[in-house]
Amino acid sequence: MQVFTADMIYSDGQALADHALVIHEGKIEQVIPLAALEDTAKAGMVRFENGMLAPGFVNSHNHSFQSLLKGFCDDQDFFTWRDQALYKYAQILSRDDLYTGALFAFGEMLKCGITTVCDFFYINDQANDNARAIIEAALDVGLRVVMARTLYDWDGAPKRFRETVHQAVENTVALHREFQDDPLVHVLPAPHSLHGASIDMILAGAELAAQLDTKFHMHVAEGQYERQMIEEKHGKPPVAFLDELGVLNDRLVGIHCVWLDDSEIERMAARKTGLSYNPSSNMFLGDGITRIKEMLEAGVCISLGTDGGCSNNRASIIEEMRMASMLQKVKFCDSTVTRAEDMFEMGATNGGLNLGLPIGRLAPGYCADFTVMDLNELSMQPRQNALKNLVYASQPSAIRSVYVAGEKIFEQGQILTVPEAEIVRRVQLTTRDWT
Ligand SMILES: [Zn+2]
Repeated sequence: MQVFTADMIYSDGQALADHALVIHEGKIEQVIPLAALEDTAKAGMVRFENGMLAPGFVNSHNHSFQSLLKGFCDDQDFFTWRDQALYKYAQILSRDDLYTGALFAFGEMLKCGITTVCDFFYINDQANDNARAIIEAALDVGLRVVMARTLYDWDGAPKRFRETVHQAVENTVALHREFQDDPLVHVLPAPHSLHGASIDMILAGAELAAQLDTKFHMHVAEGQYERQMIEEKHGKPPVAFLDELGVLNDRLVGIHCVWLDDSEIERMAARKTGLSYNPSSNMFLGDGITRIKEMLEAGVCISLGTDGGCSNNRASIIEEMRMASMLQKVKFCDSTVTRAEDMFEMGATNGGLNLGLPIGRLAPGYCADFTVMDLNELSMQPRQNALKNLVYASQPSAIRSVYVAGEKIFEQGQILTVPEAEIVRRVQLTTRDWT
């Protein structure tokens, strides 16, 4: 048993003083007033002076290998970015390079207080070895990982992405089975998008999610061109078309969903379909502004993601909370349309809901994944409203330590699991001959 206390424990919109977290086998057993704690528990208690315990951030959408491509095709239009950076380098990355890219992405995320990452992974080579390299990197860094194993069959993309429906289903089932007893690893199907996956592939992904009892993730209406393409091809906008296919349900989490009309937002809310929102990436690629205000009002469960490292180019959910809020304020010329408290829920609690895992809250039965924020660090001043400061003002230097499943993996600026110098060495070695 582990017991932690701090000046403040923040969860579910409440800042509790004089409380402790009681942890057993990587899970939170109790959030309990100090006065009610038994003497034996008090004896081994760890106290974080001037600290705030908060749920670790959940990154609900990422492509880890893309971190290696930072700076290679920035400031280009989407198709140039896709063809001259993404597709070009995706063809040459070895399993070892993919591991390096993931180590790099996950190391940066850890330094920003992220405790769970969902990696939407599609360089599968018709097998699971590469996905295993990503999972291995997450476990080496110490993060909880959700492998959104991609189902892809559009023949315009590199061959390495593509599988038949049969191959994709068999491989995803096998990977799910392989890791089903690992408490830090979760596998779910991810039909790439309406342009990257055929209708048969999308239907197979939805069916697989029901069979495995998981969520399934899919890119939806990221660019305006995509909406027009689906409308021309199927006579309906993307979300309406997914509804017609029968896959718009509470297992689906749509990534991006930038270009939706009112009726599509209503449909998502009615079907309890989630949204993984990636504001920095949408801005970086010039995609547009997702209708967060309307979606919040409709009751859509919105989580946040950083997306790949070469369309952001940072790896921080704190950054995404800030961007998500600011973008709505400026869009409506109204600073009251978003609140820091809702942004925090999107960055933590809703990530858990959209990944289908007991994470993102400090509550009994939830995973013991949390950050210790330093309330005496400069960017957290003044101390009157620590939550607002965390969302709008904090710098990574305010993150004192990070725990996943009760294990400390980051402290005082240092990754405790994999030396940062080793990650830098690997990244430089992998990318040094690239142009
Ligand atoms: Zn993506």
